[in-house]
Formats: sequence, structure tokens, C-alpha cells
Amino acid sequence: MVTVRVPAKVNVQLGVGGVRPDGYHDLANVFFAVALGDEVTATPGDGVTLTCTGPDADAVPLDDSNLAARAARLLAAHHGLPDPGVHLHIAKAIPVAGGMAGGSADGAAALVACDTLWGLDTPLGTLLELAAELGSDVPFALLGGVALGRGRGEILEALPVTGTFHWVFAVADGGLSTPAVFRECDRLREESGSGATIQDVPTPDADPALLAALADGDPVALAAALSNDLQAAAVSLRPSLADTLHAGTEAGALAALVSGSGPTCAFLAKDADAAAHIAAALRASGTCRTAHATHGPVPGAQVVQTSA
Ligand code: ATP
Repeated sequence: MVTVRVPAKVNVQLGVGGVRPDGYHDLANVFFAVALGDEVTATPGDGVTLTCTGPDADAVPLDDSNLAARAARLLAAHHGLPDPGVHLHIAKAIPVAGGMAGGSADGAAALVACDTLWGLDTPLGTLLELAAELGSDVPFALLGGVALGRGRGEILEALPVTGTFHWVFAVADGGLSTPAVFRECDRLREESGSGATIQDVPTPDADPALLAALADGDPVALAAALSNDLQAAAVSLRPSLADTLHAGTEAGALAALVSGSGPTCAFLAKDADAAAHIAAALRASGTCRTAHATHGPVPGAQVVQTSA
């Protein structure tokens, strides 16, 4: 039996370029791994089977579309294993369809768990290539820490960070579809008259002030530099998020932003005590389902337990 812990991510910068002819957007994506995470346990089995527990377990598909199952099959196929033979149990804490890359995290965790269970010793570079095949957020869940993602997010560069930052995540009822949020971003750009194509929108780049705030371990400077080009689209599709963002700011957050494509909202706090206070205020505000205080950066998918 092998258990792997894997972090969720928040995008401290999510710059979205214009829509390309192939339908994708170029991104300047600064991923930040937080301690709020899932655990995936692999045990020997027949074929690939899945179970899931946690508050959002009902929303997690338990068929072959689950990224953890796809990861197990992909790793087995890469090594020419005829029968993957694994049962994967997902202990789910990351909100589902919440903009925190929970499915991608489980894909990364399953790669590491199966690699260990099957004694494959796959080099990290190969695991990163397999992760990129599964989805553009999966390689970051393997690496963790803080990283700049380019392209669709899958080309990663680890970034220097000093110390620990304290965060609160407000979990909404229900999810938002990431493709729908990108489409709404394009629609809002067209509606504003600025245009939504690569001819209209400058290619985004990492913000030097944000990179300096991370390297200096300065939460006040990081708060000032946080940005998410998908925020207006997420709030447009789910207007109640404006109330959630406001409630966290009222409770003393240094900054509030939508996490990725939402609807989870992220709040940066000045320290752990402030984070606990903001989380309690958000839970009492009635503007979200629940709120969690956490911290980061933390490492990517890691084996935390093995037994025969
Ligand atoms: P991202 O931030 O990468 O856009 P997200 O956090 O908004 O993703 P996920 O929790 O990854 O969203 O889920 C998106 C969809 O992926 C779900 O609605 C579900 O149908 C599917 N899915 C596949 N595998 C998983 C998994 N292991 N956990 C959760 N959802 C999964």
C-alpha cells in the first residue's frame, strides 16, 4: 500500500492572452502550492478501480474519466505493463471544480503512487512528460512549491520563495466549468470593445513586482501584486462571489482574489492567527459553504506512507 499527499494550487498571477487560432490562450501563470490537499492511496487490485471519500466525493467521477485512473493507465502503458492492477482511493479535501486543480492533483498523486507500488522508479523528467499528457496543470502538482507556467501552463520554471505565506480558501456551493470561464473572459473582452484574439490582447508575462514579493517573503507586497485575468469572468458567471471577496476583505485579508477559474476564493493573510480569524469570519458570513486556513508553499506529490 502506498499513500501520496498532493497539494492544491492557487494562481497568484493568472495572465490570459488572446484566444489563439487553435482555441487555446497563452497564459502567464504563477502557480503556488498550498497545504490544503488530497491523499491518494494505491493498493494492488484488478484493472484500475476507484473509491473516493470527502465532502465533495459525490461530484467526483469514478470511471475512466477520473484523472487518477487515466494516470495509472498511462503509466502502465508507458512501461508496457499488460494489466495495471491497482485500486486507488482518493481522500478528497480539494474542492471539486473549484479552480484549485484538484483533478490534476489526483492525476499527479496517482502517477507517484503507482510508480512506487509497481516499483518502476520512473525518472522525474518522464513523470513530468506523462503529467503534461494528462493535462496542463498536472506537472505543477508533481513539482509543488511556486512555479511560472508558460504556454498552456505546462512549461514550468521553479521560482524562488522565502518563508511561508498564510492563506484562506472560501469554498462555494457547486463548481464552475473552466472552459466556460475562459469563454466568458473572451465574451467580456469582445463586449468591452478591446477584442479577444491574440491580435487584440498582449501576450501576458510574469509581473516582476510579484516575483520580487515572493522572493522577499513579503505578504504585503504579494497582496498588492496578486492578479487573475479570469476573475471578472468568474464573478460575471457567479455574481455572489463579489460578496465572498468582500467578506474576506472586511475580515482583514491583505488581498482577495478568485482562485484560478473559481469559484473558490483565496485570501492572503498577514500571519497564521489572521488566517484563522478570516476563515472563522467567512464561515460565519453566509457567503460561502466553508472556509479553510492553510499555508504554502509546500512540496508537490509525495509518498507519505508505504506498507506491505
Ligand atoms: P482547474 O483549476 O485545473 O481548472 P478545477 O479545480 O476547477 O480544475 P477539478 O476539481 O480538477 O476542477 O475538476 C474538474 C472536473 O474534472 C470535475 O468536474 C470532474 O468531472 C473531473 N474530474 C476528473 N478527475 C477528477 C478528480 N480526481 N477529482 C475531481 N474531479 C475530477
